[in-house]
Amino acid sequence: MLHVINPATEMIIAELEEDSTASIESKFKRARAAQRGWSHISLAERIRCLQAFRQLLINETDSLAAPLTSEMGKPITQARNEIRAVPGRIDFFVENIGRVMQEETVFTDKQQHLQEQITSEPLGVVANISAWNYPYFVGLNVIVPALLSGNAVLYKPSEYASLSGLTLTRLFHRAGVPEDVLSMVVGPSITGQALLKQPFDGVFFTGSYHTGKEIAARLAPQLTRLQLELGGKDPVYVCDDAIVERAAAATADGAFYNAGQSCCAVERLYVHEKIFQDFKEAFLAAVTGFTVGDPDAETTYIGPLARRAQLNVLEEQVKDALSRGARLDCGGHRLHRPGYYFAPTVLTNVDHSMSVMCEESFGPIIGLQAVKSDDEAIALMNDTDYGLTAGVYSFDRERARRILARVDAATAYWNCCDRVSPRLPWSGRKHSGSGCTLSTYGIQTFLKRKAWHLQE
Ligand code: NAD
Repeated sequence: MLHVINPATEMIIAELEEDSTASIESKFKRARAAQRGWSHISLAERIRCLQAFRQLLINETDSLAAPLTSEMGKPITQARNEIRAVPGRIDFFVENIGRVMQEETVFTDKQQHLQEQITSEPLGVVANISAWNYPYFVGLNVIVPALLSGNAVLYKPSEYASLSGLTLTRLFHRAGVPEDVLSMVVGPSITGQALLKQPFDGVFFTGSYHTGKEIAARLAPQLTRLQLELGGKDPVYVCDDAIVERAAAATADGAFYNAGQSCCAVERLYVHEKIFQDFKEAFLAAVTGFTVGDPDAETTYIGPLARRAQLNVLEEQVKDALSRGARLDCGGHRLHRPGYYFAPTVLTNVDHSMSVMCEESFGPIIGLQAVKSDDEAIALMNDTDYGLTAGVYSFDRERARRILARVDAATAYWNCCDRVSPRLPWSGRKHSGSGCTLSTYGIQTFLKRKAWHLQE
């Protein structure tokens, strides 16, 4: 049995039957049988199902947000924000799927009666193994384009977001997607391991570098198509010509939204020494203004962490930083109340000898480091195994572009941060992953090509 715990109260709120090897095998076989029929119905019919799903999401936002908040502690307003952003993503996929899947004639030679064409086919049956921090985003970035392009999906949400996984799976079935075309697998890591014993045509994983590496090693002999969306240690550099108040408010939000549990949360801040003091004051004013509390309350901005274990990681990072000379400007401890609460924490006088500046924190904590020049900031931003996003705040767009062009990250932000767009590819470099979701590239990833040499 999987016990679902409310991280704000530490109470068990649901018990779910975990999938066994036999039930996974049966779901896989049924998906294999159903996929052919699903890929052969018209694209218009698949789009109709996805639009019905989209409408259900809109109609039922409030009842969908409640379990998301109770199983992972995401403040209720942020849970609704997540669900409300999904229709826009579905619209992008629906508008572009026809174009991406269209047959293409790339060469015609009338004299030789020769034609060359490219067609697309769905991969077949794919696995979607997901993280818990944005179950709607990370789940649907895979499920929506996979279904639209004619694949069947076995979806294993995180054990920390199973209620949301179940809710959204049922919504698809109500919208007309056959149960065998999208089925859910319930369970923790060991269930994910059992799932990967099936002969999938593609595996789409969102989670930590540690797990991603393990899965990559395991699937290597089968040469399965594998996509990995992994962690980050995302830097932002605030230049001396930035608008201090604006940069401080935006980066505080980017670091602490969803209690810092976003793959693209701001995880480290470099601030030009000329404005460091002003920036620090504005930043601390923003952070100490955040309301921490019950995630069900409309006014709460920071709720508990989703997982108890992460409290230890944050405590260790604070301890390590202080032992190496950092200064604690706010927070630094658990809150004395039930639930996995950690006070919003800001450290200064930090450097790269400290884990808080080098290892993913995934919590409400940030280090601010002063730098003397753009070159120093670039060197520090690149001093990481990760490569997900990087941001620069500056009045000068060209200066920001020059800096970001030299940073090895897949997403670049100028005067913004912690942002994802359905129109742009979402991907990671180095330990942040391989492959991409979103954008038209994120549709192509669910297709395989056939090259046609046609001689009359
Ligand atoms: P995790 O790696 O612990 O788990 C992810 C999923 O994999 C879960 O469903 C889990 O049950 C499953 N799993 C664990 N071990 C497995 C194994 N050996 N075989 C198969 N499945 C296994 O990660 P998490 O704690 O759920 O998520 C947090 C991480 O995800 C952070 O590092 C975060 O940065 C990253 N993340 C990245 C993105 C992105 O788009 N790049 C988005 C969200 C989260």
